[in-house]
Amino acid sequence: MSENQTPTPAPESPAGADTTLPDGRPWRLEEVPCDFCGSSDARVLITGRDRLHGLPGQFGVVECVRCGLVRTSPRPTLECLGAAYPEQYGPHQSAALRAKAPGGLLRWALINYRGYPLGASSPVITRTAFAPLGRLPLRSRRNLGYLPFTGQGRLLDFGCGVGGFVAKMNAAGWQAEGMDLSEDAVRIGREAGLTMHLGTLPALGAPDGGTQLEEGAYDALTMWQALEHVPSPTATLKAAWRLVRPGGRLLVAVPRFDSLQRHWFGPAWFPLDLPRHLTHFTRATLERQIESAGFKVERTWPVRRPANIRHSYAYLADDTGKARHRKLARSRMIVGVMSLWSLLRGGRTGQMICIAQKL
Ligand SMILES: [Zn+2]
Repeated sequence: MSENQTPTPAPESPAGADTTLPDGRPWRLEEVPCDFCGSSDARVLITGRDRLHGLPGQFGVVECVRCGLVRTSPRPTLECLGAAYPEQYGPHQSAALRAKAPGGLLRWALINYRGYPLGASSPVITRTAFAPLGRLPLRSRRNLGYLPFTGQGRLLDFGCGVGGFVAKMNAAGWQAEGMDLSEDAVRIGREAGLTMHLGTLPALGAPDGGTQLEEGAYDALTMWQALEHVPSPTATLKAAWRLVRPGGRLLVAVPRFDSLQRHWFGPAWFPLDLPRHLTHFTRATLERQIESAGFKVERTWPVRRPANIRHSYAYLADDTGKARHRKLARSRMIVGVMSLWSLLRGGRTGQMICIAQKL
């Protein structure tokens, strides 16, 4: 463990604050109180820099002393957050938007166990007899996003990027829409024929949880690697709750701070992604946050992503200069064993997916 466990107050003055970026944009950092309980009492767990884009400053990963939620503080001010995302969308990414309808055993499972409108369902006796085998493809990491099909199948993917998941769900029978703050991402998605909304949750200027979309209209709302980026997950989840109809579902996928990976790598853990990740959820704080927004948590799945272990070893090698770490970053076998180990040790993998329902 490379973190400081001694309770210490958060730093008084953000290091590296108040400067100008090479492109002329201002860059300011600020301390923020806990988004969940409002307390400013925090202990510093990790301090780190922006390893991906090299933006100036030292960022803290601090844990709220009162409620345990872990946040990035200091972090860029709201006005400067956009500058933390240098241009990253290119036309080549629209290739991901040519999604095909699911086929084979997956298609059969979606029809028979998830209610997808992709064909006629099999007789009950067949469905029951083949259940253990038939449900297998639904357990695969890449298929966890195929939520049970309900209502009219209206889905909103929040923080959708160019809309890869939107296209995938459309191909599976949903009427999916995407929402993103990046104008480029929204334009690329629209050019591919997707329904895309430019904006965020809550709608800008509506901190009370207001939205720009039809409330109570969605059968499902998904957030893939999005909730850790928003300035207030509490406000975002409240807005999400308003959009989902009673009985509809919410899916949230985020990095898991109480994972073995994070303990192994500390400040070199790749998914810390400072200063873009503003909240660092444990399983307990994620479920608490979702339930306090009004949803009922159904299940939280551990998700393995061995690539993150490789990236973390590369960061560690940068820090230590050790050839051993660079070698491990390339060892598929060692990384695979570590990833499997974290799954077997209480499902404490580097990522998690929580599925909840609005009752
Ligand atoms: Zn708190």
